[in-house]
This record gives sequence, C-alpha cells and structure tokens, in this order.
Amino acid sequence: MPSTSTHSTKAAGAAKKTSSGKDKGLADLFLHGIKDIYYAEKKLTKALPKMIKAAKSQDLIDALTSHLKETEGHVTKVEQVFALLDMAPKAVKCDAIDGIVAEAEEILKDFGKTSAADAAIIFSGQAAEHYEITRYGSLRTFAEVLGYDKASNILQSILDQEKAADKKLSEIAEDRVDYAAAGSDSYEDGNVLSDGEPRKEKGAINWRLWQ
Ligand code: FE
Ligand code: ZN
Ligand code: FE
Repeated sequence: MPSTSTHSTKAAGAAKKTSSGKDKGLADLFLHGIKDIYYAEKKLTKALPKMIKAAKSQDLIDALTSHLKETEGHVTKVEQVFALLDMAPKAVKCDAIDGIVAEAEEILKDFGKTSAADAAIIFSGQAAEHYEITRYGSLRTFAEVLGYDKASNILQSILDQEKAADKKLSEIAEDRVDYAAAGSDSYEDGNVLSDGEPRKEKGAINWRLWQ
C-alpha cells in the first residue's frame, strides 16, 4: 500500500505517530539519532577526563581540555534540539560509542604508561571524533530535510567543533613529524626515532616517531 510521507509535518509529531508502527520514516531516524548522540556526548564527558589525565604533552592536554568543555556544550546543544522538538531529553544506548570508548580504555590500559601514550590517545580520540562527525553530518542534513532550520543550525555548529577537534589532533601528531623532519632525532618527552626518514603524509600520523 502506498505510504504517505509525513516528512513535511513536524518531526516530533511524525515520530510520535510512527514510532510504534512499522512504517518508520526519516523523522523517526532523526529522533533516534538525536537520542543516540545525546548518549554519546554524555559518555564522552566521562571518557575525556581519563584521556587528559593520561596525556603527556601539554598541547594534547590543552586540546583535550578545551574539547571537554566543548563536549559539555554539545550535551546542552543537543538538549536544545530536544526542546525544539518539544521533547524531554532522552538518551538511547549507542553500541558504536560504547565500543569506541571501551577500546580507548583498553588501549589506555596497555599504552597509557608507555612512550606511545599520546599516540594511543590521539589514535582513540580521532576514532571518537570521526564517529561524531558522521553522525552530526547526517543529523544536520536530516534536520534540514525535515524543515528544522534551528535544529540544523545547532547541529552544524557542533559539527564544526568536532571537525576542528579532529583537525587539532592531526596537527598535534603532525607537529611531531615536523620536529623529526627538522633533523632532530629526539622528541621532548624522550621518544627517540629508531631509524630513517620520517614519512610525511598530510593528515597521517607517523607511527615510527613513537617507537
Ligand atoms: Fe561532541
Ligand atoms: Zn549508535
Ligand atoms: Fe567530539
């Protein structure tokens, strides 16, 4: 049977109408995604302090500390999206971020006290940022399609900060590559290059620098 799209109606209303039925639409997916990212942001406000505590270099500590503040702001901004939908904020368990955070904690356990600690934190941190970037990119577009301009703007502003945080982590990694490329064989925290020329690739971490 032909299903009449409810996408042009208010998303919250549409979502309420269809959430118990089998014909779920984009409004339902949007709402699920908002609950999902709300869960993720709250989870990250608890995960980031552990990474800050384990980080060694001041630039990484600063970047993570400033992103923790932004992340707390993301929780508030997502709550604003709920308010725009006339809904109370509600989190739904997200297996994806649970997996990313569980892996990060595992990696921190293994590498947090080694010379690769900062590399391990960037390694995990960028996984979280990329997850958030994909979600906010989709949710921003869904909001736009559903006619939620204010929500779309809020989501875009979060997306911009996630992208900046990811870029900052790449820059911190690249700074170490630059240091090596300048001809020195050591890094300030005692890491020593084991061999050869550093491979310099835009946006890529040169793992050999942390060996
Ligand atoms: Fe965030
Ligand atoms: Zn999820
Ligand atoms: Fe983030």
